[in-house]
Amino acid sequence: MPEKSIEINCPACGRETLLMRQPKYDGFKRVGETFSCSACGHEFASESEVPFKNGRKVGVFTDADRSKQVKVFDDDEKGKICRYCKNYIVNPFTQYCSHHKKEVEATDTCPAFTPKPAEPPKKVAL
Ligand SMILES: [Zn+2]
Repeated sequence: MPEKSIEINCPACGRETLLMRQPKYDGFKRVGETFSCSACGHEFASESEVPFKNGRKVGVFTDADRSKQVKVFDDDEKGKICRYCKNYIVNPFTQYCSHHKKEVEATDTCPAFTPKPAEPPKKVAL
């Protein structure tokens, strides 16, 4: 597995160096890893002893990461179809455009589309 360089502040040599990770074997059996300073070779007892330079945040997502997940609803998806137009009138017998004075289908589109004013408040605060 390719490992990217991990910066540490080595307490032994007092420098900013890179962490060396190497598999540790007991005979042929891999028993773990060793962690040491790439500059002076100081070996750390365990990963928790390693003085990571930037601290370590595992599994913590920033707010920026999270906001990418938010689904954006596109208002244009409604398009300019008659059922969302203020001139669209529906009654038990017909659907009617009060602008063009003609029957329409709810899914018709219209160049004179005018958004219906204030639908009942359905919006959730973002
Ligand atoms: Zn060192």
